[in-house]
Order: sequence, then C-alpha cells, then structure tokens
Amino acid sequence: MNLNHQQAILPPAWLGILGGGQLGRMFVHEAQSLGYKVCVLDPDPLSPGGAVAEKHLCANYDDVIALKEMAALCATISTEFENVPAKTLDYFEGQGIFVAPRGACVSIAQDRIVEKQFLKQCQELSGIGPAPHAVIRSEGDFAPLPDDLFPGILKTARLGYDGKGQVTVHQRNELDKAWRDLGCVDCVLEKRMPLAFEVSALVVRGHDGQSVAYPISENVHRNGILHTSTVPSPSLQASLLPKIIGASQLIAKEMGYVGVLCVEYFVLDDHTVIVNEIAPRPHNSGHYTMDACVTSQFEQQVRAMARLPLGDVRLLTNVSMLNILGDAWFTSGVMQEPPWNQVLDHPSAKLHLYGKASPKLGRKMGHINCLGHTIEEAKQACAEVANHLAIAP
Ligand code: ADP
Ligand code: MG
Repeated sequence: MNLNHQQAILPPAWLGILGGGQLGRMFVHEAQSLGYKVCVLDPDPLSPGGAVAEKHLCANYDDVIALKEMAALCATISTEFENVPAKTLDYFEGQGIFVAPRGACVSIAQDRIVEKQFLKQCQELSGIGPAPHAVIRSEGDFAPLPDDLFPGILKTARLGYDGKGQVTVHQRNELDKAWRDLGCVDCVLEKRMPLAFEVSALVVRGHDGQSVAYPISENVHRNGILHTSTVPSPSLQASLLPKIIGASQLIAKEMGYVGVLCVEYFVLDDHTVIVNEIAPRPHNSGHYTMDACVTSQFEQQVRAMARLPLGDVRLLTNVSMLNILGDAWFTSGVMQEPPWNQVLDHPSAKLHLYGKASPKLGRKMGHINCLGHTIEEAKQACAEVANHLAIAP
C-alpha cells in the first residue's frame, strides 16, 4: 500500500508486525485498542501475537508470497525483534511502505561488532562509550588481545539474547575452548566490568525527529535474563540522568531511528556509565510503562509508525516489574500452573500473561507490574508476589 509519507495513518488502517512473540502480542493489543487492525507475520502456528491479531500470516520472514500479501494490506510495518532479515524490512520500504524502524537501524543492532563500532562513534558526541572489547573472527585474533580484556565475556556477534551465545573467559588460555563452544563464529570479547547496577533508557523518536524519553529503569538480571525493573531507579545519581537520556536520544538521532528504542547501560562503582547494547523495539525493561505511565511503550510504537504525535511519557506511580519465567511452573518437580490466585489477590500487582503454549525453564511467560506509593512499597509488593510464585528474590 503506497502512501504519502507525511500523512498520519489513522484507524482502522492495517498495521504490520514482524514477529508474534510476547512483544508482538502486547503491540497487537495496544494497536487494536486504538482501533487499528493488525497483521502478524510469524512462522510459529502457536504464536501468541498471531493468536490475537486480525490476521496471522504463518510463514517465514523471507516468504515472498507472505511478504507480498502483507505489503498489499498494511500501511506501515514494524518489527518485534532485531533478528528479522533486514532485507525483509528493505523489501517493504521498496514497496513504498512506511517501515519503522528501518532495516538499516535494525541491522546495526543485529551484529554486536557493528553495534559496538557505532556506539564507539556516538561516544565522541555523548561521552558514554562501550566496554573495552576486541573483535574475534579467527584464531589469529587471539594473540594480539591485550591482557586487560581478561576476565572477559565472549559474545557471539549475531543471534544472542537473554545471555545466550555468551561464555565467561576468566583467562587467555580458556579462549580457544570458549570460541569453539560458541561454534567458531564471529564474536566480541568484552572485558567483564565491575557493575554496581544496570539501567536502561527507553526513548521514542517520531518520523519528524521529535523525541521523548521515559524515566530510566533499574534492572536486575538473573543468569543473563531480566529479573526485575524498578522505576524510578533507586541507585542512579540524579546528575547522571540527563547524561544517559541525552546519550540515548543522540543514538536514536544518529541512526535516523523511528520508533521505540531501548539502550542498556552499566553503572560502575565509581559512577562511570558504559553503554551495553541497543534494542530496536519495545523492551522487556519497558513493560512497566503499561501500568505506570500515561502512554505504554507499545502505544508509542504504534504512534511512531503511524506518524502520530508521540504520547506523554509521564510516570504516574512507582513501579517494580517482575518477570515470570517458565520456571514458575516447575517448582514442585511436576509441571503445574502457578498459584495465580495469590498474585491476583494483590490489589496493586498487575498480572500480564503472554498465552504461550508450553512453559519451559528460562522462557518468558509473563510479567507483573507491582505499583506502590513509594519505591519501597513497589519493591515490597514485588517481593511478595515473587514469593507466591517461588521466584527467588
Ligand atoms: P543479551 O543480548 O543476552 O541481553 P547482554 O550483552 O546484554 O546480552 O548481556 C546480558 C547480561 O550479562 C547483562 O545485562 C549483564 O548483566 C551481563 N553482562 C554482559 N556483559 C557484561 C560485561 N561486559 N561485564 C559485566 N556483566 C556483563
Ligand atoms: Mg542485554
């Protein structure tokens, strides 16, 4: 569908989303509540997003027939994950469809080597750079590595997520095995940093360059997977806020980005801030916006791709989000549904379940936004619901 790129796309137009996991599903819900119709492309017949969309194209991301059908239907297209082929986004753009974010932006986040290079360039303007690192493409790259990259973390350049595709390398002589364990693919060896805590910034950039930034969230990870996000960040010095938000908005601007962008940061003991990685989409650490902000991150994605003015990012309450992994189904040894009644009994715990077919250890099944008059109250509510679900604090 070929549209004038300056006009807003209004309901009941069709929006397209590549990927129908939990992010796609929450996007569909928000788009539908604004009166849009949604087409999800996802090869999984049990896709949680596909199950709630007006149309689920159950096909691969490079299936020519499905892409043609989607192009004929949708006024604008976005993606829920960075590993969609950038060529697919380029195809839609070539068809005159407004694609947000563009393939060129997504491809930066697809490859840690390219991403780190880009973040290093941004450092000149923002003052915040990535951790010391080196690129590993072959065994020949081992010898020149400086000693101070150890202990480090070897990360595959592509397809890593939730801590997958990463191996800790304590010392140089462990590198060879670690690289083989990762399949001898292109990697980045990153110095392991002494983290005081982690935060993420969620920024949204419109087609006309307008930009808004949500309050920064403080994130706790367990085994490389997000565990909780608390907002406002209890540990972040107020003076670092404008620096981190400014750096994130600069990253979005430098990419010519349109849509929701999450930028993950490490804060070290001496208050140094390091940029970790970017996610070109709504992010797990932004799920708190669904219940705690005037506009959720998913509504913002709809607004950005429909060329509407961006929504108000105001925080209405303190909040602590708890991720629910499939582990909560296996606390007794046999698979059983967690005690939702105990979570639902809590008046300010907002339960979101993703409707995934089968729970698995480490699989993201849902989250709970725990609201509170104070941060302590929100964190307390979070600890209580975690306890009900036998999730370690
Ligand atoms: P993913 O793509 O899986 O999210 P990340 O690079 O964000 O990969 O790593 C996941 C988590 O592992 C981070 O949020 C952080 O807790 C930890 N981590 C990653 N890199 C480093 C590092 N260089 N130093 C210390 N901890 C790290
Ligand atoms: Mg990460």
